[in-house]
Amino acid sequence: MGLDSSNGYDYTGPERFVFVGEHMTEPKTPYELADEEFRCEHPASEIRYKVDSLGRRHYHNQCLTCGFAITSALKHDSVSDQDSVRPFNKLLEAAWWKARQERQREIGAQQRSERERELLALHGDYLKSPEWRAKRAAVLARDGCQCQAMLPGCTKIATQAHHLTYDHWKNEPLFDLVSVCACCHNMITADDRANRSQ
Ligand SMILES: [Zn+2]
Ligand SMILES: [Zn+2]
Repeated sequence: MGLDSSNGYDYTGPERFVFVGEHMTEPKTPYELADEEFRCEHPASEIRYKVDSLGRRHYHNQCLTCGFAITSALKHDSVSDQDSVRPFNKLLEAAWWKARQERQREIGAQQRSERERELLALHGDYLKSPEWRAKRAAVLARDGCQCQAMLPGCTKIATQAHHLTYDHWKNEPLFDLVSVCACCHNMITADDRANRSQ
C-alpha cells in the first residue's frame, strides 16, 4: 500500500483504500503475534539424545514444553549415566510448531475479517453520499435504466449501479459501473462473496 508517483499516477495498489491515522503505523504480522504468544520460557528441560546419519549420539537439553533443543550438542563426558538418557522427542517439537502455525493462520483470518468489516463500513458511508447518488443517477441514465446483467429472474428495470472494479473507488469513471436490477445485483454480490471466501 502507498502512493507511487514515479510513473505519474497515484497508485494505491491492490488494497484499493489508503487509511490514515491508526493505520499509518505498521501493524504486527500474524507471524509476529503468534511468536509472542508462543515464546516459551523453557521452564523445564531434560537431556535427550539425537542420532545422526552415522549412528552417533548427540546429547541436547530438550525443553519439555516446546520440545526445542535449547542447547547445542553437549560434551559427552558432561553427560552422566548416558544409558538412561531417553531419545529426543520429535513429536513434542512438531506439535509445538504445528500449534504455532495454526495460531498464525487464525490470527491472519481474524485480521482479514476485521479489515473487511472496516472496508465495508467505509463503503457503506460512501454509498450514502451525494457524490455516489449523482454517479449512480448518471450510470442509470446512460443505460436507460435497463439492467445490463439479465441473469435468471432479472426484473429488467435497473435501480442500482454495480462496480466492475474498485480500482477507482470514490473516483469511478462511469465505465467502471453498470446498471443492474436489485435481483441481479444480489446474485452477483453473493457470487463475489462465495469466490472471495474460497
Ligand atoms: Zn520451551
Ligand atoms: Zn437484472
